[in-house]
Amino acid sequence: MRGRVYLVGAGPGDPGLLTVRGRELLEVAEVVIHDRLGTGGLLGHCSAGAILVNAGKAPGDVAMTQEQINAALIEYATAGRMVVRLKGGDPFVFGRGGEEAEALLAAGIDYEVVPGITSAIAAPAYAGVPVTHRGVATAFTVVTGHEDPTKPDTQTDWRSLAKAGGTIVVLMGMGRLARIAAELRAGGRPADQPVAVVQWGTTTRQRSLHGTLADIAEKADEAGIGSPAVVVIGDVAAKGQELAWLTGPLRGRRVVVTRARAQARDLSSELRRLGAEVVELPTIRIAPLPAPDIAEALGVIRRYSMIVLTSVNGVDVLFDALADRGEDARAIPASATIVAIGPATESRLRDRGIRADVVPERFVAEGILEALASIDLDAARILVARARGSRPDLVDGLRARGAEVTEVHLYEAVPEPVPPLELERALTADYLTFTASSTVRHFVEQLPDGAPEELSPRVITIGPITSEAVRERGLRVAGEATEHTISGLLDALLSDAGRA
Ligand code: SAH
Repeated sequence: MRGRVYLVGAGPGDPGLLTVRGRELLEVAEVVIHDRLGTGGLLGHCSAGAILVNAGKAPGDVAMTQEQINAALIEYATAGRMVVRLKGGDPFVFGRGGEEAEALLAAGIDYEVVPGITSAIAAPAYAGVPVTHRGVATAFTVVTGHEDPTKPDTQTDWRSLAKAGGTIVVLMGMGRLARIAAELRAGGRPADQPVAVVQWGTTTRQRSLHGTLADIAEKADEAGIGSPAVVVIGDVAAKGQELAWLTGPLRGRRVVVTRARAQARDLSSELRRLGAEVVELPTIRIAPLPAPDIAEALGVIRRYSMIVLTSVNGVDVLFDALADRGEDARAIPASATIVAIGPATESRLRDRGIRADVVPERFVAEGILEALASIDLDAARILVARARGSRPDLVDGLRARGAEVTEVHLYEAVPEPVPPLELERALTADYLTFTASSTVRHFVEQLPDGAPEELSPRVITIGPITSEAVRERGLRVAGEATEHTISGLLDALLSDAGRA
């Protein structure tokens, strides 16, 4: 069977700007040949078994030539593999995607093109610059600045381009910015025509600069702004000063989320809203236990006078197990006292149709014991449904007060292997967040040389137990949530970021 090659646009850098189709293909690709620019952060979508080939230049390494890339595409596809060729921005905008398609066609290989969001439009947009604007610009031209505008054999006639009017968007133009500006002026563009330069557009490293045709090259030099950047020339460029919208207290910070993927979403989207670049590095996965004792406990669920749930996952697994038995919330006795460890668990219970009677002030096992201090537990029949590997303190504490406790292990957190590239991004991040001791343990176990003396990212935890797990491994905790919830964790991170 012959394979197939997908020429997929990765978008300009912000991982959220990959298309849905692109992501679906990455998830199932057997081979991914990617560039260096604009594709970082997307490789986390690849399956664990995918072969990843970096066609771009790694520091100290040489990039693959276009011929080598074409040959590799053909070779993998001929071997029957499903290949994604992941290219920054759009594959057909200065991406040599057309050449790759030609080579595939010549070799008789099936291919498909998945357009991407080009930096030519997206980088200006992220700097508040609309490339067209009613009454200001009715056209835009995207042009490469790679060629020397003063050489006779250049294919770009900058002077005619200047006369044609409209917005000019230059890619790969930083090396020749002064000469391009001079040519455009020679073609009739005024010296005070606004110019915006957007470097690393849509990424957390985005920087933008405003000037005019007369001074932009010098300003860029002074500010140290070079490639990769998009240059926008025309009156719309000035709009960026009014319309700039990219803000947020965590702008420019990279934050790692180590929670299980299924649970990472709340934290990740909140971090993104605050302007952070998020690296999702799930170190654990929630594996429901195929436990006969769950069934047994559920079979007699009506005899419990109290049911304690200590996590959102616990609620999910418990109700899924009830559903498997053809039952629902009505199986839980109305007379039972329902205890939720914190607001997230409480809210998930509410989703499932159950109101929690007790939510402690401190969202840890000891908090539950405190919250139950005034309740007579003598001879109470308590079901504690939670993760395997939980600390024994809660169950011991309840038993010490005379309760008859059944503990059921609903699920366990199993390690999730981390792709080495993602681990590298995590280790150079500004922050690592941990929401459970198990995530700390599995993160450290994945490090190539075990626990290091020091980590460069600052560590923020959800609470004291998780912090303890960090310190036990000789690492420093920079911030700890006062309220042991996701929003508490965000507060701790924000307050550290204000200080750090
Ligand atoms: N196919 C790509 C362009 C590849 S050419 C696309 O559609 O975006 C490489 C040039 O694109 C760089 O020199 C730079 O001018 C521009 N570029 C790519 N990513 C960029 C980014 N995130 N910010 C600014 N410019 C970028």
